[in-house]
Amino acid sequence: ARPVIAIVGRPNVGKSTIFNRIVGDRLAIVEDKPGVTRDRLYGTGEWNGIAFNIVDTGGIEIDGEDEIMKSVRMQAELAIEEADVIIFMADAKAGLTHSDEEVGQMLFRSRKPIVLAINKVDNAGRMDEVYEFYGLGFGEPIAISGSHGMGIGDLLDAAVSKL
Ligand code: GDP
Ligand code: MG
Repeated sequence: ARPVIAIVGRPNVGKSTIFNRIVGDRLAIVEDKPGVTRDRLYGTGEWNGIAFNIVDTGGIEIDGEDEIMKSVRMQAELAIEEADVIIFMADAKAGLTHSDEEVGQMLFRSRKPIVLAINKVDNAGRMDEVYEFYGLGFGEPIAISGSHGMGIGDLLDAAVSKL
């Protein structure tokens, strides 16, 4: 079976934007099963000659801080179960939040290979925006911009090298 890469993070950090850039039109049709599969999208990708399945998590809009964090936690748990590598995404514009730290701790404890991607670094000169994310403990954050398509090659290099 193909290795699985999952993208995890708070709502609005840009997971779906990056997923769409990686997958293009290779979206997998998943049977409509009740429950969690509804808010997960599966696609395929290939990088450096390695084919993989990739999962976009947390697609259903929900309201309320508690409900949102419950859902993000559940998506992180599912990713820990099914993924070979997890792309943990945060947002340079929002900065490091308490929710990022909470999800980061879950992922850290799982001992899964994690690649930390900081999205919305729209100006390559603004690398200072990513330094605070070193504190999450996943090594060097990879600066990306879903809007500009910047850094996605570096992100895939890092993810595929951990498969
Ligand atoms: P998700 O909830 O994590 O899947 O995030 P989305 O992919 O839906 O993106 C949330 C919002 O952030 C949308 O309005 C996107 O257009 C915007 N967005 C995504 N990537 C970038 C980026 O690199 N820079 C900026 N400025 N906005 C972005
Ligand atoms: Mg999304």
